[in-house]
Amino acid sequence: MSAPTWLTVDSDDLRHLPVYQGHPTRSKRHYDGEKEILSTRFREGWAGFLAWMQRHDASVTLFVISDLLEQEDFSRLLRDALKQFGTRLTIGCHGHTHRSWSAWGEDKAGFAAMLSQSTTLLKEHAGESFRPYFRAPSGYVAPWMAEVLAREGYKVDSSVNPSWLVRKKAAGHTWSEVTKAMKANGLIERPWLTTWTLPVNGPALFRFPLSLLARRAWKRTGTAFTKSEMYRVEDEKGDLTTVYCHILDFARNEGGWTPPLNLPRA
Ligand SMILES: [Zn+2]
Repeated sequence: MSAPTWLTVDSDDLRHLPVYQGHPTRSKRHYDGEKEILSTRFREGWAGFLAWMQRHDASVTLFVISDLLEQEDFSRLLRDALKQFGTRLTIGCHGHTHRSWSAWGEDKAGFAAMLSQSTTLLKEHAGESFRPYFRAPSGYVAPWMAEVLAREGYKVDSSVNPSWLVRKKAAGHTWSEVTKAMKANGLIERPWLTTWTLPVNGPALFRFPLSLLARRAWKRTGTAFTKSEMYRVEDEKGDLTTVYCHILDFARNEGGWTPPLNLPRA
């Protein structure tokens, strides 16, 4: 039997993508949209996400980039969603500006300052729905980040995409070194699902030919956690499968895209 599944969604808007910002070599393009407001695509994605949430009763953790909370329109969307779904929707941290931390070299002080600011904002806006869970922006994570996460009170990290294809993101380390550092600092690592050591989450869902593998892998995942089972994310002994997609993905197919999963209907 497959392990139960932890459903996670990342809140990146277009302006956060590494092609525009946050990475020393990948960020080459200028973002043409207005940075102060949510993009139309994000709004469409959010509407699709809410519609999908209404159709099933599984729990979802949304990893929020906290600079979004400095915008009144996103704060309102989040407040309404938390009111609608209660703690079936939990909130984790996806950085303050979506900087690709491990790509810039070790910077414990900078990472700590960001994490402290981000955590304060998330707690303020998410209240009891906040969880001390971290996902590194674009999966750029390194062992030095573990100690800082622990100091800020984080219990779970879900940044490791254990595939050789993206090994550079660990900044000269192996994925198992990252996992060991998390464990040594008291965090539980929840790596992303892979198939044949290839990525199947996020962008892989849409990049041919990985997309074929990805959709099949998602369809084979075990039952998604409901609200009462969510404690298992923090249960060290519990085996689980972690999958993730983006809010922006829900804008695909004219707002009709949903994660390729078989979920219990609401
Ligand atoms: Zn992201």
